[in-house]
Amino acid sequence: MLSLEEALARIIRTVKPLSSEKIPIVDADERIIAGMIKTAIPLPLFDNSAMDGYALRSDDLVGASREKPVSLKLIGEAPAGRSVQFQIRRGECVRIFTGSPIPSGVDAVLMQEDTHAIGSEIQCFDKTIPGENIRRRGEDIETGTILCEPGRVVGPGLISLLASCGISEIPVIRRARVALLATGDELQQPGRPLAPGQIYESNRTTLATLLRRTGAIPSLLPVVPDTLKDTVAALDQALTLGDLVVTSGGASVGGHDYIKEALQKLGGTLDLWRVAIKPGKPFLFGQCRGKLLFGLPGNPVSAFVTFLAFVRPALLFMQGQKQSSFRPASGNLVAAVQNPGDRRHFFRVRLREDGKVEIPKGQASHMLHSLSIANGLIDVPPATNLAAGTTVQVLLF
Ligand code: AMP
Ligand code: MG
Repeated sequence: MLSLEEALARIIRTVKPLSSEKIPIVDADERIIAGMIKTAIPLPLFDNSAMDGYALRSDDLVGASREKPVSLKLIGEAPAGRSVQFQIRRGECVRIFTGSPIPSGVDAVLMQEDTHAIGSEIQCFDKTIPGENIRRRGEDIETGTILCEPGRVVGPGLISLLASCGISEIPVIRRARVALLATGDELQQPGRPLAPGQIYESNRTTLATLLRRTGAIPSLLPVVPDTLKDTVAALDQALTLGDLVVTSGGASVGGHDYIKEALQKLGGTLDLWRVAIKPGKPFLFGQCRGKLLFGLPGNPVSAFVTFLAFVRPALLFMQGQKQSSFRPASGNLVAAVQNPGDRRHFFRVRLREDGKVEIPKGQASHMLHSLSIANGLIDVPPATNLAAGTTVQVLLF
C-alpha cells in the first residue's frame, strides 16, 4: 500500500496551476495574487498636513511658549482637496487642515490646540521644528514600489494600500470549480423524512464547506444511486462541470462500489488506490479528460481526513499558494494514545489554549462527535503507544 507522502507526491506531480483573472479589489479578499503589482504613484501623493492648525515658518516661532506667545498674521485658508497658492512671508500663517497640501514657503504646521485666534491674529503657544506635522510625498511608498508578489493572499490591509494607490482591479488566480458527488443508495438529504435503513447524507455539505475554506467553488450534484450506469452518468456530468471532481463513497471493495469502474468506462486512468492511513485507506485518485478525480471514502471522518491530506494540498498548489494543508503546532497529551494497528492513525484532537492536547472519545471513522470538537489531527505511527504528557505535533486544520 502507498504511503501518504508517496500518494501526495504522485498527485501533486499531475496538478497544474489555474489560470488568472482580473477582479475588482473590493471582491479580492482572501484571493491569491497572480502577478506582481507596482504603484504608479507615491504615497503620500504630495506634502500635506498631519494636523488641523496653522502652516507657518518654523523660524518665526523661535522661543514661543504659553508664557511668551508669538503672534502671526493669518493670510488665508488651505482646505483639503484643493491646491491654493500662497506666498507666505515672515510673520504670516495659513489656516490648514489634515490632508491639505502644504503651501509653498511653509516648513511646519502648529497644531490648533497650541494656538488662540483673535480675528486674524493667531497667538502661537509653542515652537516648532522644520518638518513638524508635515507628511512628505513618497515617505510611505515611492513610485514604482512593488506592492505585492504573486502567491500573496489578499487581506484588508493590502486592499487598503492598493486602493490608496488608485488600483481598482488586480490579477488573481481563478477559483477552482469542484464538482461534488456523493454515492450511496442509503443516503437521504437532511431535512427530508428517512425511510427504514436510510441515513442522512453529510459529506457533500462538509466537503463544500472545506472547499470554500480552501478558496474553491463547490457545486453539489445529486446523490448517485449504487449502480454502474448511474455512477458513469454522474461522473460524466461532474467532469464537464468541474476543474476537478470529488466523490464520496463507492471507492472500497464492496460489491456496490463503482467509482473505479465508472472512471475506467469513461476512458480515465486510475493513478492510485488505497493509502496506508487510518482513517482513509480506500482513497483513490485518477484522471479523465484532463480533469482530476479524487475518490474519497464514504465514512464521513475518512472523507474529511482524505480531503485535508490530498484534495486541499492539490487545490493550494493549483492556486499558487505556498502554505501546506496543515498548520503544525505542538502540545502535550492529556491522556495516553494507543495505535495497535499496522497503519498510521490520524486521531482527531483538540489543542487547547493552555497547550494541552485532548483526545475526544469516539475515534472510529464513522464517529463524528469527536470531529465536531477537534481542531486538528495527530499522526500516530503503527504499533505505537504515547503516554500522557508526551509532546506531540498537532496538525491544525
Ligand atoms: P462507502 O465508502 O460507500 O462504503 O461508505 C462507507 C460508510 O460511509 C457507510 O456507512 C455509508 O453509509 C457512509 N456514507 C457514505 N457516503 C456518505 C455520505 N455522503 N454521507 C454520510 N455517510 C456516508
Ligand atoms: Mg456506499
